[in-house]
Formats: sequence, structure tokens, C-alpha cells
Amino acid sequence: MKQQRTDVLGVGFNDLTMEQAVDWAMEQMQRHAAARVVTPNPEIVMLCRRNPAAAAAVNSAELVLPDGVGVLYGARILGRPIANRLPGIDFASALMARMAQQNMRVFLLGAKPGVAEAAAKRLEAQFPGLTVAGVNDGYFKEDAPVIEKINAARPDFLLVCLGAPKQELWMQQYAAQLDVGLMAGLGGAMDVFAGNVRRAPAFWRRAGLEWFYRLCSDPRRIGRMMQIPKFLLVVFAERRKQ
Ligand code: UDP
Repeated sequence: MKQQRTDVLGVGFNDLTMEQAVDWAMEQMQRHAAARVVTPNPEIVMLCRRNPAAAAAVNSAELVLPDGVGVLYGARILGRPIANRLPGIDFASALMARMAQQNMRVFLLGAKPGVAEAAAKRLEAQFPGLTVAGVNDGYFKEDAPVIEKINAARPDFLLVCLGAPKQELWMQQYAAQLDVGLMAGLGGAMDVFAGNVRRAPAFWRRAGLEWFYRLCSDPRRIGRMMQIPKFLLVVFAERRKQ
């Protein structure tokens, strides 16, 4: 995406409306460009600071969407606000709704065995016209057979839900070999599409408190969520430096 990116602690974010992002994605699929979309949240930004390979995989993606209100706070505090928050899962849903109108094909990669199958059923019911061209769980040992399976299915869109930074590194490593239109690293989205994990109700999402809802429904996330205050501390330190 040819657009000046907004830097938040070393990760460059695109600032697009949902419609612009979906239009761009449709274009990539028409070109069968194997373009990569990543959707970092504050936790992934912090991970990129510790892990240069992850940072390179994220920043080299064709589209970098701010997932989570924390990134927007960070950008605002740094004096370069980002207008649009585009959670990866919302982007994928909007894109699949548009794909359904044109009978396009999606491949679901990731999550525990059985989850992608369940997601396939629900997505085909939710978006009539969309074809799930294939599925594979995210706990495979060898990459080559999975790539072969994906290529045989010739999907327009590939969902890659392997967790961060595995999914970002995997997409970067295999982009040149994958016969797909577009791919996106979407973390826990497969579990949500399968109906195994519920998203926060709209009120919480609008209030920017989805992270808090997720914490309450899965307290084991506390360790990971401690990255959010750390992220804000680093943002404030960075602002002082500016
Ligand atoms: N996962 C996977 N393969 C792995 C590690 C993780 O398929 O080797 C899946 C895991 O089952 C889960 C998703 O990746 O469905 C990551 O979920 P997480 O909650 O970490 O996602 P995020 O918080 O990044 O959205």
C-alpha cells in the first residue's frame, strides 16, 4: 500500500478506513499478488522491539493495520494520531462479506485440530457465496505439504492464525511460494469464527475495552496483557525524547 506509514515504537501503521482497506484487498486478490496483511496490537509492537526478525516480518507486510485501541493511544501520545482502528477480525469479516458477493475462495490455516473445520461451516453460513477452499490446523510439523495443499486449493484469501510472531514470520518466509491472492495473520480469529471464543459485546468494543473483556473472560492472559502498560510507558518515554 503506497501510503506514508505512522511509526509507533518501530512499527509503521497504515491509516485506512475499513472501506479503503477492503477495496485495496480486493485489488490484491485480483492481481493474485500474495500480499501480506498484519494486524499488530501493543503486545506485538513490544514483541517487535525485542525481536528484530519479527519486526522485519511485520514492517515488510504490504498492509499494517492497527488492531486494538492501545496502538491508537500510543500514536496520539506521540503526536501523530491514527484515525482508524481496524481490528484484524473485523477487516477479515468485512473482506469475506465482499468476497461472498463474487463467489471467491478462502483457505483457513491455523488453530487446534477441528477448529478451522468449525469456522468453515460457520463462515459459509454467515457469508453465502463464499467458498472455503480448504482448511488445515496450525500444529503441522512440516511446511511443504501445507503449502502444497494451499496452492492446490488456489484460494483468493488465506487466513493465517498461528499466533504472533509465528504467523508473520511464516507468511514472510513463504509469500513467494504461495499461490494466493492475499493473506492475513489473524491470531485468535479462527477460534472466534469457529464460535469457541466470544468477542466482547459491542458496548465494550466501542468503549475501547475489548482487551479488558478478554482479560476477564480468560485471566491467564494477564502476563501478556502486562505488555500494554509497558507499551504506554515506552510511548511516554519516547515522547519525552522527542
Ligand atoms: N496456534 C497455532 N499454531 C501454533 C501456535 C498457536 O495454530 O503453533 C493458534 C492457537 O491455537 C490460537 C492462535 O494460534 O488459535 C493464537 O491465538 P492467540 O490467542 O495467541 O492470538 P492473538 O491473541 O494473537 O489474537
